[in-house]
Amino acid sequence: MVNTIPAKSGKAVHIKNGQSIKIINTHGKQVIDTWAFNANELSEYMSMEHSRTTILKLIPAVGDVLHTNRRNPILTFIEDTSPGIHDAVISACDNERYQLLGYKGYHKNCSDNLIEAMDELELTFNQRGTPFNLFMNIPWDVKGNLIFEEPVSQPGDYVVFKAEMDAVIAFSACPQDILKINGPERQPTEAHYQIFN
Ligand SMILES: [Zn+2]
Repeated sequence: MVNTIPAKSGKAVHIKNGQSIKIINTHGKQVIDTWAFNANELSEYMSMEHSRTTILKLIPAVGDVLHTNRRNPILTFIEDTSPGIHDAVISACDNERYQLLGYKGYHKNCSDNLIEAMDELELTFNQRGTPFNLFMNIPWDVKGNLIFEEPVSQPGDYVVFKAEMDAVIAFSACPQDILKINGPERQPTEAHYQIFN
Protein backbone atom coordinates (compact mmCIF):
# COMPACT_ATOMS: atom_id res chain seq x y z
CA MET A 1 0.00 0.00 0.00
CA VAL A 2 1.28 3.43 -0.94
CA ASN A 3 0.79 6.05 1.78
CA THR A 4 0.79 9.82 1.48
CA ILE A 5 2.94 12.34 3.29
CA PRO A 6 0.68 15.37 2.78
CA ALA A 7 2.27 18.58 1.51
CA LYS A 8 3.89 20.69 4.27
CA SER A 9 3.03 17.96 6.81
CA GLY A 10 4.53 15.06 8.75
CA LYS A 11 3.88 11.35 9.01
CA ALA A 12 5.32 8.64 11.28
CA VAL A 13 5.12 4.89 10.90
CA HIS A 14 6.31 1.72 12.63
CA ILE A 15 8.62 -0.58 10.68
CA LYS A 16 9.84 -4.01 11.79
CA ASN A 17 13.42 -5.19 11.77
CA GLY A 18 14.11 -6.55 8.26
CA GLN A 19 11.30 -4.70 6.51
CA SER A 20 12.08 -2.04 3.91
CA ILE A 21 10.60 1.38 3.31
CA LYS A 22 10.49 3.21 -0.01
CA ILE A 23 10.19 7.00 0.02
CA ILE A 24 8.97 8.46 -3.26
CA ASN A 25 9.57 12.02 -4.48
CA THR A 26 6.27 11.93 -6.35
CA HIS A 27 6.48 15.38 -7.89
CA GLY A 28 10.27 15.44 -8.07
CA LYS A 29 11.39 18.57 -6.20
CA GLN A 30 10.22 17.93 -2.66
CA VAL A 31 12.64 17.64 0.25
CA ILE A 32 11.60 14.99 2.75
CA ASP A 33 13.16 15.29 6.21
CA THR A 34 13.51 11.77 7.59
CA TRP A 35 14.10 10.61 11.17
CA ALA A 36 14.36 7.10 12.61
CA PHE A 37 13.94 6.07 16.24
CA ASN A 38 14.45 2.78 18.06
CA ALA A 39 10.80 1.74 18.53
CA ASN A 40 11.58 0.30 21.96
CA GLU A 41 13.63 3.26 23.22
CA LEU A 42 12.87 6.59 21.61
CA SER A 43 15.92 8.27 23.14
CA GLU A 44 17.95 6.19 20.67
CA TYR A 45 17.68 7.75 17.21
CA MET A 46 19.40 7.81 13.84
CA SER A 47 22.28 10.25 14.06
CA MET A 48 23.92 11.79 11.04
CA GLU A 49 26.94 12.72 13.17
CA HIS A 50 27.45 9.16 14.40
CA SER A 51 26.78 7.77 10.92
CA ARG A 52 29.49 9.98 9.41
CA THR A 53 32.02 8.39 11.75
CA THR A 54 31.50 5.01 10.10
CA ILE A 55 30.58 5.88 6.50
CA LEU A 56 33.21 8.64 6.24
CA LYS A 57 31.26 10.80 3.81
CA LEU A 58 28.95 13.81 3.95
CA ILE A 59 26.13 12.31 1.87
CA PRO A 60 25.03 8.74 2.72
CA ALA A 61 24.63 6.56 -0.37
CA VAL A 62 23.46 3.08 -1.37
CA GLY A 63 25.29 0.47 0.70
CA ASP A 64 25.82 2.73 3.71
CA VAL A 65 24.57 1.71 7.14
CA LEU A 66 23.13 4.56 9.18
CA HIS A 67 23.79 4.41 12.91
CA THR A 68 22.12 5.67 16.06
CA ASN A 69 23.43 7.95 18.76
CA ARG A 70 24.29 4.68 20.55
CA ARG A 71 26.30 3.40 17.58
CA ASN A 72 23.81 0.68 16.60
CA PRO A 73 22.81 0.11 12.95
CA ILE A 74 19.24 1.35 12.38
CA LEU A 75 18.79 1.69 8.58
CA THR A 76 20.70 0.42 5.57
CA PHE A 77 20.44 2.51 2.41
CA ILE A 78 19.65 -0.10 -0.26
CA GLU A 79 18.32 1.73 -3.35
CA ASP A 80 18.32 5.23 -4.86
CA THR A 81 16.96 6.08 -8.31
CA SER A 82 17.76 9.80 -7.90
CA PRO A 83 21.19 11.29 -8.72
CA GLY A 84 22.13 10.67 -5.07
CA ILE A 85 22.05 14.26 -3.90
CA HIS A 86 20.71 14.41 -0.33
CA ASP A 87 21.62 16.40 2.79
CA ALA A 88 22.74 15.15 6.17
CA VAL A 89 24.16 18.41 7.49
CA ILE A 90 21.36 20.99 7.83
CA SER A 91 19.00 20.92 10.82
CA ALA A 92 15.24 20.59 10.38
CA CYS A 93 13.46 23.88 9.81
CA ASP A 94 11.50 25.33 12.72
CA ASN A 95 9.34 28.39 13.25
CA GLU A 96 12.33 30.40 14.44
CA ARG A 97 14.12 29.68 11.15
CA TYR A 98 11.25 31.30 9.22
CA GLN A 99 11.30 34.36 11.49
CA LEU A 100 15.03 34.72 10.72
CA LEU A 101 14.16 34.56 7.02
CA GLY A 102 11.75 37.49 7.53
CA TYR A 103 8.44 35.65 7.74
CA LYS A 104 5.90 37.22 10.12
CA GLY A 105 3.65 34.92 12.16
CA TYR A 106 3.61 31.15 12.50
CA HIS A 107 4.97 29.13 9.57
CA LYS A 108 4.53 25.38 9.30
CA ASN A 109 7.87 23.66 9.80
CA CYS A 110 9.53 20.24 9.87
CA SER A 111 10.29 20.29 13.61
CA ASP A 112 6.63 20.74 14.55
CA ASN A 113 5.60 18.29 11.81
CA LEU A 114 7.75 15.65 13.51
CA ILE A 115 6.09 16.28 16.89
CA GLU A 116 2.60 16.14 15.33
CA ALA A 117 3.41 12.95 13.40
CA MET A 118 4.72 11.23 16.54
CA ASP A 119 1.67 12.49 18.47
CA GLU A 120 -0.57 10.67 15.98
CA LEU A 121 1.12 7.42 17.08
CA GLU A 122 0.89 8.57 20.73
CA LEU A 123 4.67 8.65 20.98
CA THR A 124 6.52 11.24 22.99
CA PHE A 125 10.23 11.85 22.74
CA ASN A 126 12.62 14.48 23.95
CA GLN A 127 15.67 13.94 21.77
CA ARG A 128 16.17 13.75 18.02
CA GLY A 129 19.03 14.05 15.66
CA THR A 130 19.52 16.07 12.53
CA PRO A 131 17.24 14.47 9.95
CA PHE A 132 18.45 12.80 6.80
CA ASN A 133 17.05 15.38 4.37
CA LEU A 134 16.18 13.28 1.35
CA PHE A 135 16.57 14.96 -2.06
CA MET A 136 17.81 18.19 -0.40
CA ASN A 137 20.62 19.79 -2.37
CA ILE A 138 23.25 21.54 -0.27
CA PRO A 139 26.44 21.71 -2.34
CA TRP A 140 29.71 22.92 -0.82
CA ASP A 141 32.86 24.39 -2.30
CA VAL A 142 36.50 23.53 -1.56
CA LYS A 143 36.48 25.90 1.41
CA GLY A 144 33.41 24.16 2.86
CA ASN A 145 30.96 26.99 2.13
CA LEU A 146 27.39 25.70 1.82
CA ILE A 147 24.64 26.85 -0.57
CA PHE A 148 20.89 26.10 -0.61
CA GLU A 149 20.03 24.83 -4.11
CA GLU A 150 16.97 23.29 -5.68
CA PRO A 151 16.69 19.47 -5.83
CA VAL A 152 18.14 17.63 -8.83
CA SER A 153 15.71 14.70 -8.44
CA GLN A 154 12.93 13.94 -10.94
CA PRO A 155 9.25 13.02 -10.45
CA GLY A 156 8.98 9.45 -9.17
CA ASP A 157 12.57 9.19 -7.94
CA TYR A 158 12.74 7.12 -4.79
CA VAL A 159 15.05 5.76 -2.11
CA VAL A 160 14.72 2.53 -0.13
CA PHE A 161 16.01 1.74 3.36
CA LYS A 162 16.03 -1.57 5.21
CA ALA A 163 15.35 -1.48 8.94
CA GLU A 164 18.08 -3.00 11.10
CA MET A 165 15.90 -2.86 14.24
CA ASP A 166 12.22 -2.32 15.06
CA ALA A 167 11.96 1.39 14.37
CA VAL A 168 9.67 4.36 14.01
CA ILE A 169 10.35 6.30 10.83
CA ALA A 170 9.09 9.87 10.68
CA PHE A 171 8.89 12.17 7.68
CA SER A 172 8.18 15.80 7.02
CA ALA A 173 7.42 17.05 3.53
CA CYS A 174 9.33 20.27 4.15
CA PRO A 175 7.07 23.38 4.06
CA GLN A 176 9.96 25.67 3.04
CA ASP A 177 8.50 28.12 0.49
CA ILE A 178 10.82 31.08 0.98
CA LEU A 179 14.02 29.50 -0.35
CA LYS A 180 14.10 27.41 -3.56
CA ILE A 181 15.06 24.26 -1.66
CA ASN A 182 11.77 22.63 -2.77
CA GLY A 183 12.14 23.79 -6.37
CA PRO A 184 12.03 27.14 -8.19
CA GLU A 185 8.23 27.48 -7.92
CA ARG A 186 8.54 27.43 -4.10
CA GLN A 187 5.44 25.21 -3.98
CA PRO A 188 5.91 22.34 -1.48
CA THR A 189 4.16 19.15 -2.55
CA GLU A 190 3.07 15.82 -1.13
CA ALA A 191 5.29 12.74 -1.22
CA HIS A 192 4.61 9.03 -0.70
CA TYR A 193 6.06 6.00 1.10
CA GLN A 194 5.53 2.25 1.02
CA ILE A 195 6.60 -0.50 3.43
CA PHE A 196 7.33 -4.00 2.19
CA ASN A 197 8.78 -7.22 3.56
ZN1 LIG B 1 11.74 21.84 6.60
